[in-house]
Amino acid sequence: MSGDRLTIIHIDMDAFFAAIEQQANPDLQGKPVIVCGDPDGRGVVATASYEARMFGVRSAMPVREAKRLCPQAVLVRGRHSLYGQVSNRLLEVYRKYTPTVEPFSIDEAFLDVAGCERLHGDAHEIAQKIKTEVRESFGLSCSVGIAPCKLLAKMASDMNKPDGLTIIRSEDIAGVVWPLPVRKLYGVGEKTSQALESLGIRTVGALAKIPVELLTEKFGETGRLLRNIASGIDNSRVNPAIWEMPKSIGHETTLTEDSGDEAFILTCILSLSQQVGRRLRQQELVARTVTLKLRYSDFTTLTRANTFSFFTCLDEDIYRTAKGLFLCHWNQLRKIRLVGVTVSSLSSKHDFMRQLALFEEDEKRRRVTAAMDKVRDRFGENAITRASLIRPGKRLKKKETERTEGGCGI
Ligand SMILES: [Mg+2]
Repeated sequence: MSGDRLTIIHIDMDAFFAAIEQQANPDLQGKPVIVCGDPDGRGVVATASYEARMFGVRSAMPVREAKRLCPQAVLVRGRHSLYGQVSNRLLEVYRKYTPTVEPFSIDEAFLDVAGCERLHGDAHEIAQKIKTEVRESFGLSCSVGIAPCKLLAKMASDMNKPDGLTIIRSEDIAGVVWPLPVRKLYGVGEKTSQALESLGIRTVGALAKIPVELLTEKFGETGRLLRNIASGIDNSRVNPAIWEMPKSIGHETTLTEDSGDEAFILTCILSLSQQVGRRLRQQELVARTVTLKLRYSDFTTLTRANTFSFFTCLDEDIYRTAKGLFLCHWNQLRKIRLVGVTVSSLSSKHDFMRQLALFEEDEKRRRVTAAMDKVRDRFGENAITRASLIRPGKRLKKKETERTEGGCGI
């Protein structure tokens, strides 16, 4: 932990999209508002106002279910460019207090206010000033967490929503964080919390106290990371340059002649996936989204994407996803002239907060890939490939390709 100084602030806007819509249209104020992609369609809820949440409406819930729970809700089509503009203007407000601002999502940011105290006061005062300015200039409310590290600040902002201001000091960890169920710990997904519960670890405190060897035996290096976050240990810095990373990494290839040969095209997709994975690892990046591009012999082009619920830099994940998209969307009748594989939603491998999402990853597969990289370093790119990856798989049913969130095509 970066000492005991409370300099890290996490700001999370309350019901961001819905609050912007309510602010823009006075008729919506005080009413249950649901922002979604298509109010008439079968999409999911992007954001629900707190009035709608009282009826049990939640983000990512099918709109149909939300309508059932709250028939009087006003459905609004999301205006993402507007939300992006507001998000950028909010970042400008935060930057008045410190240059060290890291956007974390469209409605969240980390600030490090170390060294800014003489100008603006301590973190608590700065947080209050920001909350006031956001309310007065935007008519929006936010919840703020203050802590000695990003991890605890992020957990703190979540504790008193909406319009909260919560401080977690190092000495509060045992009293405030340890009684929480493990699944409340940032970065612990359903799979990991089930695995922990099967070991009898139900609370964050139990996780913090278990011998680290037991955790590394079960989860590999991730076990150590798990123990650290349960103890509130997070040395990652607030990184204002995070947005300077490449947006995507991709490779494409034009086939020597147009092909309708499934096995051959899959071999191309495998090779492209390996090249993309390798570049990710060379640049120490991880990705969440895989996009497959197909160009047919008549030059029409199809792109389809899937987004994982975790970050990965593994060839196997990239290939399996690209292959799933291919088998799902290629109709077998049209010949293909170009294939491309691209990954996006990138993050630095060293970005602790984003890296936590890697928890669900299989440590063994990561080790196998690292070993393969070593072989390729010595003997060249084509020296080795996983036999299981080139074995012709059975054609996936549409359902199986939808295992990742985001559905079969976006
Ligand atoms: Mg929010």
